[in-house]
Amino acid sequence: MAASLPRTPDVHLLQTEAGGHVFLPDGSRLFDADPGLFQRFAAAMDTGGVNPLLDQLGVRGAPAIDDLPLAAPPVHALSLAIAQKCNLGCTYCYAQQGEFGGAAQNMSRQAAEQAVDLLVNGAAPGARLNLAFLGGEPLANRELLQQTTRRARALADERGVTLGFSITTNGTLLTEEDATFFEAFGFAVTVSLDGPREVHDRLRPFKSGKGSFDRIMRNVAPLLAGQKRMQVTARVTVTPRNLALRATLDELVGAGFHTVGFSPLLRSPGGDAELAHDDLELMLGEMIDCGREFERRTRAAQPYPFANMLNALREIERGTHRPYPCGAGAGYLGVSAEGELAACHRFVGDADGAMGSLQEGIDARKRAAWLSERHVHRQEPCQRCWARYLCGGGCHHEVIARGRPACDYIRGWLHYCLGAYLRLTAGTGVSSGQSIPAGRDEVSLR
Ligand code: SF4
Ligand code: SF4
Repeated sequence: MAASLPRTPDVHLLQTEAGGHVFLPDGSRLFDADPGLFQRFAAAMDTGGVNPLLDQLGVRGAPAIDDLPLAAPPVHALSLAIAQKCNLGCTYCYAQQGEFGGAAQNMSRQAAEQAVDLLVNGAAPGARLNLAFLGGEPLANRELLQQTTRRARALADERGVTLGFSITTNGTLLTEEDATFFEAFGFAVTVSLDGPREVHDRLRPFKSGKGSFDRIMRNVAPLLAGQKRMQVTARVTVTPRNLALRATLDELVGAGFHTVGFSPLLRSPGGDAELAHDDLELMLGEMIDCGREFERRTRAAQPYPFANMLNALREIERGTHRPYPCGAGAGYLGVSAEGELAACHRFVGDADGAMGSLQEGIDARKRAAWLSERHVHRQEPCQRCWARYLCGGGCHHEVIARGRPACDYIRGWLHYCLGAYLRLTAGTGVSSGQSIPAGRDEVSLR
């Protein structure tokens, strides 16, 4: 983690087998630097004189991201908690076994229709929208899921907008008919799995205590076999009890998932299974082990669908720089079974992320306040962190509830991914090849 610690907010240095590299957070730009220039940057970071050097190199202009909060954009993604109930008893569940601290309930047909109207009728022609089904366990309310999907697709076609569907499921209620339905509508299906059988069964048992792994793998088989338009992803919630990530990744990739991704558990309702600093250090080692295998397989032209790596490389390639970690409270909102609007699916029933209701509409004042307060320039210590425009300040839900215990992990992972990007693109022509005159030095813009 030492190489990724924050030294200055304006520059981050990294070295690969090919030499030294300079990452500029402003605009997420990545440069190669010859040894002399690399040393000048290292010295300037020690003396706090980085900006004059950037000026001298001509790579500092108006900041790509200013302090202004995002103006509330049209909603382009909604998640519906269509069943606030669940048949599993995962103790760490942010939704408290699906019920978000209230009574078990299903969303009404009227609420689902209003939500679809909000999403589709408010969209500009040509917009790309997403409708997500979550819970609890959304398949506990299958009939409404199917009705809502059909109606949303018809409405989207009428209005000439593109609408994608997604579902996050525990997999225990999946049927062959679901596989056919999801394939027909091109769903992105995410199945929660926390590791090989024994590990998974300890973390995600049925409420009775019985393990759920065998049932899920049996149920998911027709989906894995039928993926054409549909994509089936495994998502692993990482806790101190399932840190053997490489073994998990290999098993789930081998099972035929389209991608497999890891998500660290930083906050749970009772604090159960939250990752502590030492756990996160172990997790980083495991993630890098998975990443190294990804690099090896990629060079050998073999698929290895490690979602975290694929996402990070895509963002680095795009030069993503953003003032928020995600679209929560901006283009993305969550809808509770009762029709309350929230900043995202995790804020259902939580006053911190309340955004109005389907009946009364989006609360524009709360949304504007959210976008202002959650801007990464308003977050501490993000303002001084080199990773701020790739990270965006961390998941709002976790940060509000627990603070920022994972910054070293986040920076360590991004540092590794930047290096992996440089290694994988070296000599492939991905670099733009632009050079910037830099006095006697030259840096080449990748
Ligand atoms: S939350 Fe992200 S941007 Fe903020 S300090 Fe931590 S790593 Fe940096
Ligand atoms: S706030 Fe957190 S849980 Fe909600 S959408 Fe953003 S990253 Fe995801």
